[in-house]
Amino acid sequence: MTAPRIRKAAIIGLGLIGSSFARALREQKLADEITGSARSASTRALAEEIGVVDRAFADPVDAVRDADLVFLAMPVQATEAVLRAIQGALRPDAILTDGGSTKGNVVAAARAVFGTLPAGFVPGHPIAGSEQSGVLAGRADLFLRHKVILTPVPESDPAAVAGVRALWEAMGAEVLEMAVERHDEVLARTSHLPHLLAFSLVDTLARESTNLDIFRYAAGGFRDFTRIAASDPLMWHDIFLGNKEAVLAALAVYTGELDFLRDAIARNDSDALLGIFTRAKAARDHFTHMLAGTAYAKAMKQKNIEYVVQPGGKLTGTLRVPGDKSISHRSIMLGSLAEGVTEVTGFLEGEDALATLQAFRDMGVVIEGPQNGNLKIHGVGLNGLQPPPGAIYCGNSGTSMRLLSGILAAQAFDTVMTGDPSLSKRPMERVAKPLRQMGAEIQTTGERGTPPVTVKGGKVLQGIRYDMPMASAQVKSSILLAGLWARGETVVTEPAPTRDHTERMLRGFGYEVKVEGATVTVAGGGKLTATRIDVPADISSAAFFMVAASIAEGSDITLQHVGINPTRIGVINILRAMGGDLTLSNEREVGGEPVADIRIRSARLKGIRIPEDQVPLAIDEFPSLFIAAACAEGETVLTGAEELRVKESDRIQVMADGLLTLGVDARPTPDGIVIQGGPIGSGRIASHGDHRIAMSFAIAALRASGPIEIGEAATVATSFPDFPGLARRAGLALAVVEKD
Ligand code: NAP
Repeated sequence: MTAPRIRKAAIIGLGLIGSSFARALREQKLADEITGSARSASTRALAEEIGVVDRAFADPVDAVRDADLVFLAMPVQATEAVLRAIQGALRPDAILTDGGSTKGNVVAAARAVFGTLPAGFVPGHPIAGSEQSGVLAGRADLFLRHKVILTPVPESDPAAVAGVRALWEAMGAEVLEMAVERHDEVLARTSHLPHLLAFSLVDTLARESTNLDIFRYAAGGFRDFTRIAASDPLMWHDIFLGNKEAVLAALAVYTGELDFLRDAIARNDSDALLGIFTRAKAARDHFTHMLAGTAYAKAMKQKNIEYVVQPGGKLTGTLRVPGDKSISHRSIMLGSLAEGVTEVTGFLEGEDALATLQAFRDMGVVIEGPQNGNLKIHGVGLNGLQPPPGAIYCGNSGTSMRLLSGILAAQAFDTVMTGDPSLSKRPMERVAKPLRQMGAEIQTTGERGTPPVTVKGGKVLQGIRYDMPMASAQVKSSILLAGLWARGETVVTEPAPTRDHTERMLRGFGYEVKVEGATVTVAGGGKLTATRIDVPADISSAAFFMVAASIAEGSDITLQHVGINPTRIGVINILRAMGGDLTLSNEREVGGEPVADIRIRSARLKGIRIPEDQVPLAIDEFPSLFIAAACAEGETVLTGAEELRVKESDRIQVMADGLLTLGVDARPTPDGIVIQGGPIGSGRIASHGDHRIAMSFAIAALRASGPIEIGEAATVATSFPDFPGLARRAGLALAVVEKD
């Protein structure tokens, strides 16, 4: 809706909020005439002089006469007196709204005056402001990109609500609606309590006799924390008295926490202190990202990023690519459930694994970090998880939600798991069904059995024999994890081999796991013992550098500590079959997972028919293998890989389109592709936001005749946070261009 045309707006209170509202009305040409009222003659004179209002009156009655919009912007305790004064002069069809920081008492004041509230009454609160006050502090853009909460009452006419909403939106604000009580509770915690603490801390220190010295040496922390103690005393006096109940409730919870903290210091309780501080830091970081419009990971993903890669170059040196995502998830889960402190290095700080980390923090596990991939998890044992304060948010991570289902099914408390819009469409019954057979009570949502997933606590699980209808590492893992708490043995048989990271890591934590052919067995009642996990570098990320070094003449690189789980090494086998020069050394096991250093030297690759038994072992690596095929002599044929069409993009079609753009003969087939090796040209590639497509075409530039530009490359950060940096250090001429 466009903002209603206002002939005359009256603003009572011409300080920071009132004068900003008036300035914004003027700048957006929303009102023909603006009148105002303030107590002091000096404010009124200034307001007229600088043109904030056309006329300012001492008596609000003179200001509101004939106005079609009245905005109250004086301290909230004055509401009843002002309304009583203007009641008789208000036009019956006028919109009456306000900007007061508390809402319950404003509504109560209006009821005391009007009895039945006027239909035009729409209480509101702009979440914008500063510690400054007065008519000179106002700004026309104060509300731009800030939130405004409207708290309509039952009598509010929907048309009036829509009108007020449209006005704020025309000023650039984002408008939300909330019940009056909810508003006051939320603000008591997020605004009123912090102000109370700031006022009280500054006053406490100022009254100490050595205060001068204290203030002289006060560092940035003091300044940051107490900035808001410079806010207007009268306004805050009114807010605390006006929102008394909610403020007292928030204060009671907070003083309880403060007592706990004091006791923890007194008894040298490091775990308690680290628990509070790490949770607070994580919450604050999350909040910072939320404000930047992102989730747990850095802002990169939201930006419009392009890669521009200059042709040529060769790769040299020793590199370590980011940690494996599947193993990062599991290190948090098993580390949390183990007894003792698990140290993790090489953790992939991607959004998905961070969602798992947050879930366990929510359940009371103290996790220090991550800092440069290092974590310290203070395990609570299999029976030490605590109820989370609210729903567990899994973001975009299917792994988190499916594996957690198995763990939560066995806990003493109820939980709910939610996800982002994309995760909310993914099927969860495939884990819920077998878990129910074990005695769990799990509810998915809607006909398609999607998130939110509700798990009832306090159930005794029973081991089962489960023949999986589909090959899925997530389903297998979820059942095995539930099996840790189940009575007797839990036996899972899979129709085709899937990734076995859970089985391997359980063993790494000292838990017995039997594997016989396609059948895995765990028995409940054991325990996990803390360990050290150096998360192997992700072979899927390493694959780009394996192909890059193979195709760029003169290259010789070593990739360190790469995970070479037998279910994942298709890319090594296929490149070797094409004539690639890859040597493995320093082979060892960490946390149950095999790893090795891999040296890759450039080689003359030849086209091959890719054996179908290698397809599941290299499923994520095909985009880069297609680049290898384009640089090989002769024809490469891939079949049996229809699954590639339903990845983050249709990887067969999108890769074929990109290769054709670069002049490579690439023919997609229903279940694969046929690529003729030959010269690579230059051009602009659409990655369709698929991280692996973007990285694949970046390395193609090593053999291109001109630059390659790649659009929508921001998603690379989800799996490979510093790909451009590492690629440049290795020898690629890659520039990141940020578009508006
Ligand atoms: P301010 O800068 O101190 O201005 C208050 C204005 O109200 C002054 O012009 C004052 O007149 C006038 N006033 C005071 N008592 C009055 C009365 N009884 N009758 C008529 N006018 C009266 O305060 P503000 O920051 O704009 O706050 C105004 C309202 O907005 C408050 O309800 C506050 O809760 C709310 N609010 C403030 C912020 C913030 O960050 N500051 C944010 C959101 C909402 P004189 O100039 O003559 O003293």
